[in-house]
Amino acid sequence: MSFRSELVGSFSTGSAENPTVAMMDAAFAAEGLDWRYVNCEVEPDDLPDAVAGARAMGWRGFNCSVPHKQAVIEHLDELSPTAAITAAVNCIVRTPAGWVGHNTDGVGFATAAEEHLELGGCRMLIVGAGGAAHAIGVEVALRGAATVLVANRTAARAEALASLIAERTPARAEVWAWPGAPSTPVGLPEDTDLVVQATPVGMAPHTGAAVPVAWDGLRPGTVVADVVPNPPRTRFLDEASARGAAVVDGTGMLVNQAAENIRLWTDRVVDRAVLRAALERAFAGA
Ligand code: NDP
Repeated sequence: MSFRSELVGSFSTGSAENPTVAMMDAAFAAEGLDWRYVNCEVEPDDLPDAVAGARAMGWRGFNCSVPHKQAVIEHLDELSPTAAITAAVNCIVRTPAGWVGHNTDGVGFATAAEEHLELGGCRMLIVGAGGAAHAIGVEVALRGAATVLVANRTAARAEALASLIAERTPARAEVWAWPGAPSTPVGLPEDTDLVVQATPVGMAPHTGAAVPVAWDGLRPGTVVADVVPNPPRTRFLDEASARGAAVVDGTGMLVNQAAENIRLWTDRVVDRAVLRAALERAFAGA
């Protein structure tokens, strides 16, 4: 019998809007694990103290969300390959060698997408070039994607991401021009296997919005994914689905990212259905 729980948690600003704790509580209960996930509001200037506090209190690890994903790196001892290439960390694990930083956003996406297509050899178009696009682009490229095309409202950021992927992974990566963005539709390259919407467009409460896409170019078999987790069924996915595409929602990415965090911390493979049900209850306000 022990009266001491194992501790993990999250450091971010805007933490009250982060539903991860609901998934973690449900998973730990389902697994019978005496672990607690503490969702902490941490301002940028306080991050060093927060990391030192977690170390002093023997936390097993923690998540970092906005705005700490880059800043936390200087406090870590090692990085996973995707975290090193993206220079962004969202999951930190205590190991005998020290704090190891991972980027499980990309893993979460890839795991969700792999239910629908083989990522090895795939040809992917990503719309967006921010943090989520970096995590997805690099992870999918490291899993053997043949081509990664990046379309972004700000062309310079598309160029930066395409160059990063081309230089640091085996995939071919290029900018996909988005003329007159953002109101002009993004054209679909002829041979695309996977289209990923990696911007916040369509997120609640702006659920009527969608990045415009020239869907007429959609070929049979193309998988279409959205990173927006709330609502799970975005207008973007509705438009793709109406044209016969298989769709991957942002909830799947979030659920699989949480499952990967738990695996890294506890070595347990949790039932994704438990995580998804907890997330849906959280989004429904239950
Ligand atoms: P960033 O701020 O890092 O990047 C945002 C990207 O979206 C940029 O490329 C930006 O373009 C583009 N963008 C923003 N607004 C518009 C618009 N109106 N029209 C066209 N492009 C636009 O954000 P993140 O990458 O961190 O997050 C993006 C989304 O991913 C969020 O909704 C977030 O919730 C979600 N996300 C989901 C996860 C999940 O597990 N499901 C995990 C992580 C993130 P520009 O460069 O021109 O500014």
